[in-house]
Amino acid sequence: MNLHEYQARQLLSRFGLPYPDGSIASTPDEAASIAAQIGGPVVVKAQVLTGGRGKAGGVRLAGNTGQAKDIARQILALNIKGFPVNRVLVVEATDILHEFYLGIIIDRVSRRPVLMASAAGGVDIEEVNRQTPEQIISLPIDPLLGLQEFQSRQIGFRLGLSPAQVRQFTGIAASLYQAFMGLDASLCEINPLIVDGSGNLRPLDAKLSIDDNSLFRQTELAALRDLESEDPLERLAREQELSYVKLDGEVGCIVNGAGLAMATMDLVKLYGAEPANFLDIGGGARAETVATALRLVITDPKVKAVLINIFGGITRCDEVARGIIAALEQVDVDVPIVVRLVGTNEQEGRRILRQAGLTAVTSVTEAARAVIGTLNLAAESK
Ligand code: GDP
Ligand code: MN
Repeated sequence: MNLHEYQARQLLSRFGLPYPDGSIASTPDEAASIAAQIGGPVVVKAQVLTGGRGKAGGVRLAGNTGQAKDIARQILALNIKGFPVNRVLVVEATDILHEFYLGIIIDRVSRRPVLMASAAGGVDIEEVNRQTPEQIISLPIDPLLGLQEFQSRQIGFRLGLSPAQVRQFTGIAASLYQAFMGLDASLCEINPLIVDGSGNLRPLDAKLSIDDNSLFRQTELAALRDLESEDPLERLAREQELSYVKLDGEVGCIVNGAGLAMATMDLVKLYGAEPANFLDIGGGARAETVATALRLVITDPKVKAVLINIFGGITRCDEVARGIIAALEQVDVDVPIVVRLVGTNEQEGRRILRQAGLTAVTSVTEAARAVIGTLNLAAESK
């Protein structure tokens, strides 16, 4: 779950991170009154669940209250990468001498939180990682020992900070690590962390992703979820308790089991197409679940074919086949469907599917080839 900047900075402030004053507004008038309260120049910032707001004109400096109102009106009318701006954050403007990057993520390879820091901050850190990875310092953190002060100090000096700034840096890094652990975050990022006009280190931006699996115990955070601002398909999937991740390809994938879903996506790619999604419908594959999954997958206009890959195991394939047909009666699908079905009673299962006019096969490679064949046919008939 991703949080908005204004939510993230509130949470991070509790752990001692010194953010500039600011408040949230949903109208230009509200923005003006916050600016008046702050007094002096402010920065008006679009609150959307995507990065790169600055480049998209979603972060702007306003010299006075009147300007703050105008700019808030303009930003509230923006649509940034498909996300409408419903709220703006109005914060006290800060003089910036230098921008750093500081973040913590979970690294799956070392199976630890990793602290990352860079003197090339402010900009897109993924880009820095691609172009000049040597500019990023990464430090795996032993979860039993936590982040040690000497480690932060070393990083501070490597970033080129003065001794006084290094002291501030160790405090900020310690707070960030405590927040990361305390909030069950999967990502916690300050970009930029700046040196202000008086030489002090201060966080300006905040990005926080919470591990969905921890929301049962992070009840306060669960309540912060902004349903309106999330991807509508992913929201529908979550409501139906399906694991769904939207991607950019043209082959919709409906699979039981996460590992098999990954393998299916790899095969689709291997045979020259791109998966439109990751979708694990869990064990069983009841008609209701398949129907929901189908609805979800074909709502994506990019989907040109659907690949259903069910490894029945103990599950009876004839029941699964009837489930798929029942689902097709509930949902109008106008793209080709290929089903790979194996397990108990598989012959009967495939017979039922073929009788209903579907392509039903045994091997995954055969399924991938068949689905890509339908794409090629469609391309030729154009
Ligand atoms: P992002 O583009 O979504 O990451 O939004 P940020 O909050 O990081 O803002 C983008 C950029 O705007 C920052 O890297 C700064 O260069 C600039 N910026 C943000 N807040 C201030 C501020 O208070 N004063 C000044 N001068 N620039 C700011
Ligand atoms: Mn930023």
